[in-house]
Amino acid sequence: MNTLLLAITAAALVALVALLIFPRHDEDEAKGTEHEDERVSPLLRGINYLLSDQPDQALQEMVQVARLRSEAADVYMALGEMFRSRGEYGRAVRIHQNLLARPDLPDSMRLQAHYALAVDFQAGGLLDRALKQYRKLLELAPDHVPALEASLRIREQSHEWLEAEALLSRLEQVQNTSYHLHRAFLFAQVAEQALHQGRDEQAKDYAHRSIELEPACAPAWFVLLELALRRQDWDEADRIVRTLAERNREHFPLILPHIMKHEDYYRERGRLCLMEIWQRSPDEELALSWIELVGERDVDAAAGLQRELGFQPENLRARLRLEAVFEKEGDRLFARAWRRRVTNYICEMCGVGVRELRWQCPQCHEWGTMHPQKGDIA
Ligand SMILES: [Zn+2]
Repeated sequence: MNTLLLAITAAALVALVALLIFPRHDEDEAKGTEHEDERVSPLLRGINYLLSDQPDQALQEMVQVARLRSEAADVYMALGEMFRSRGEYGRAVRIHQNLLARPDLPDSMRLQAHYALAVDFQAGGLLDRALKQYRKLLELAPDHVPALEASLRIREQSHEWLEAEALLSRLEQVQNTSYHLHRAFLFAQVAEQALHQGRDEQAKDYAHRSIELEPACAPAWFVLLELALRRQDWDEADRIVRTLAERNREHFPLILPHIMKHEDYYRERGRLCLMEIWQRSPDEELALSWIELVGERDVDAAAGLQRELGFQPENLRARLRLEAVFEKEGDRLFARAWRRRVTNYICEMCGVGVRELRWQCPQCHEWGTMHPQKGDIA
């Protein structure tokens, strides 16, 4: 807030200097010198309020100033930013709309105001209006990267994956680069959506397009597995399970709920397939996830599975996860409480930790950057 106040004070000072150096518009000439004071004194009062940390009074004064001279547009922009940072989106919107309504606004400032207004709407959660506003800006400046990126984010937030993909293509053109991993995840989301809506052909098509771009794209493989199991094509399901185990061992354990949902397949074929994969290369995450899932329905079966796997936890995290499966009601249920709030995945880009995996990081919005938390608890 203090930095912002300083910025506004600085902008106000610039505007004040502008008023003093270029005292009048031609149309003001006839009105006499008392108008000069009308322009300058609210600025002085505003600066005074800012310096004595009374932002609300300062805002009131400075809005007056900005109405009088277009040089004060910078002050307007800074005020808008300040309102937004205080969560007063309605006032920020009004400031930027006022600015856009001025015919004397220079083009560069007009772009900034369009962008600022879109950011106001987005920050205030009015995503449709934000998107419309970004579109207006992109009509004026088709290569505006922040507007393209923000629109992409909104489409992703609204699960409009194909629209998001179109914006990604545009960004690729503007930045002359390739975002194939991002696109692979967007196609996997299209596939997943189609699967849930019963459009199996589209689901299959987009899952394949995703895997073509990124052979290890786990969510696309999950869609193909579900399609195979819906068709009762167990050979194909086995092939998919084995392929994913080879291509993406890190996220492979996430296939377990998809397999176990189809009990017939799990009992007759899937269990065996998983056991082979485990025996070829045992890994802690597969054992723990599997025991946990079985334990949700049947604790004795989970104990049997642990014996069959010959799995022994080698660190505190793994011990606690097992403990949470086998803790008896009536105990203090310490491990289960720990399990409910523990961080299971960490983003390699921004370091944020989450409990449930998301293919897109909730903080930095990168795709495919979340990795399972391993080893001992820090
Ligand atoms: Zn991140």
